[in-house]
Amino acid sequence: MSYLAKNYHRPLPSIVRKYFASGEEHVDTWPASRLRAYQAEALRRILMHAYERNGFYREKFNAAGIVPARLDLPGELAKVPLTTKDEIRGKPWLLLSVPRHVVSQIHVSTGTTGGEEIYIPHTWEDLHVNNMSPAMRALIPVGESDVVVNALPYEMSSSGLAFHRTFQKSYGAMVVPMGKGGYYSTPERTLRAAADLGATVLITTPSYAVLLAEVAERMEIDLAELPLRFMWLTGEGCSPMLRERIEKLWGHPAYFYYGSLEAGPIGIECSARNGYHVAGGHVHVEVIDPTTRGGVASGEVGEIVVTELTRMASPLIRYRTGDIGYIETSRCSCGVTLDRLVLRGRAGDQIKVGEKTYGPYYLEQFLLEIPEVGNWYQFVPQGDRLLIRLEGNADASDQLARSIASRFEFSTGVKASVEFVESIVRTGGKTIRVIQSIP
Ligand SMILES: [Zn+2]
Repeated sequence: MSYLAKNYHRPLPSIVRKYFASGEEHVDTWPASRLRAYQAEALRRILMHAYERNGFYREKFNAAGIVPARLDLPGELAKVPLTTKDEIRGKPWLLLSVPRHVVSQIHVSTGTTGGEEIYIPHTWEDLHVNNMSPAMRALIPVGESDVVVNALPYEMSSSGLAFHRTFQKSYGAMVVPMGKGGYYSTPERTLRAAADLGATVLITTPSYAVLLAEVAERMEIDLAELPLRFMWLTGEGCSPMLRERIEKLWGHPAYFYYGSLEAGPIGIECSARNGYHVAGGHVHVEVIDPTTRGGVASGEVGEIVVTELTRMASPLIRYRTGDIGYIETSRCSCGVTLDRLVLRGRAGDQIKVGEKTYGPYYLEQFLLEIPEVGNWYQFVPQGDRLLIRLEGNADASDQLARSIASRFEFSTGVKASVEFVESIVRTGGKTIRVIQSIP
C-alpha cells in the first residue's frame, strides 16, 4: 500500500498487513471467499476488542450469553445484541474502547433526526490507517490527475473530512476543501473555485447540487463547460428522477454514495446504477425486520443494520441505522463483486397516507416526472391525503395545482392536494422534504 508504505512507520495492525499491505488488491474485486474470510476475522477482532475494553458491550454480551471468541462468524453475528441510536445519544464515552488520551478526533451528529448529540471518537490510527486501508479502485475511480471539489460540511460530522482524507491519502487526488454553505463557503465561491481550478470530480448533497446550479445560472457559469468527469451525491436520499434533473442541470453524470456519521462509508453506486455496492472492507451489513428484530429472507425489505469493521476507538456493533432497504446478491454487470444495497429511505421519513406507507423517494420520483414541478418541494402527510407544497412561479394557478395533484394521484394512487408557496427554504444543512406534522 503506497500511502501506508510511505507514511506509516509503526508496525501495521496484523489484519491490515494480512489483507491490505500489498496495495495491489482492492476490496471491490475480491472473490467472495476472501471477503468472507476478511469479514469473519475483522468481526471477531472488533467484537473481542469491544468485549474486553468496553463495559457497555461487555454487559450486553454477558446478558445475551455471548462469548465473542466462540462465535462462528459472520453467520452467528445475528446472536449479538443490536445497538440503537437512542442508546448512544448524549453519551460521548459510551462506545469508547481505548484509553481516552489516544482519542485524536471526535465527530458530532448534525442532529437532523432530533434528540441529543451522537459523538463518535476516533484514534489517529483509526483515521489514518484502519479506515484508509480497504481501498476500492473500481468504485472510487479517482486518481492523481483529479481535482476533487469537496462541497460537503467539514464541521462537526465526518463527511467532509472523511472524503477529504480518502481522496487525498488513499487515491492521491488533489482536494479542494470548499465545504457546504458554511460562513466562508458560499455557493458562489464554490462554483468560482470549481471553474478556476478545473474540477474533475465534485462531491456534495443532491439539494446542494440543485442550489449550486441555480446560483451558477445567475453567475452565468456554464456548468457543462467544467471538466467534471462525474459528481457524487451523498448525505440525503435522492430519487432517480431528481438525479436525472441534476445531471441535466450540470451536464455531467452523477452517482450516489451512502454513508453515515456513525458507520462511515456503507455503500457506493457503480456505473450500472442498480444499487449501492456494500463497502465490505469497512462495514458488514445485515437487514432485519424492524418489528421482530430477526433477520429477513435474502432480498426482503427491512431495516439496515451495520457493524463497522475498522474503528477501534468506538466500535459500532450491529447498529440499527433507521434506513430501509434490501440486499441484492446477484452479480452486477459492472464487475464489482460486492453485494448491493437497494435503499428505500429513512424509517422516520416514511410517508403514511390512509392505511398505506410510502417511501419518500418513491413518491419524489413520480412527483418530479411531472414537468411543471420544480426541484424544491415538501411532502406533508395529512391523514388520508398528502399535501404537496411547491414553489410557485409565474405559471402557478389553482388550475395547475389541481392538474399536478391529479397526475400525481393517477401515477401513485395517493390522494393529494398541491399548494404553491412563495419559496421553500434552501439550507446549508440537510434539506428536509418530509414534514410529518404542520408546524
Ligand atoms: Zn455494480
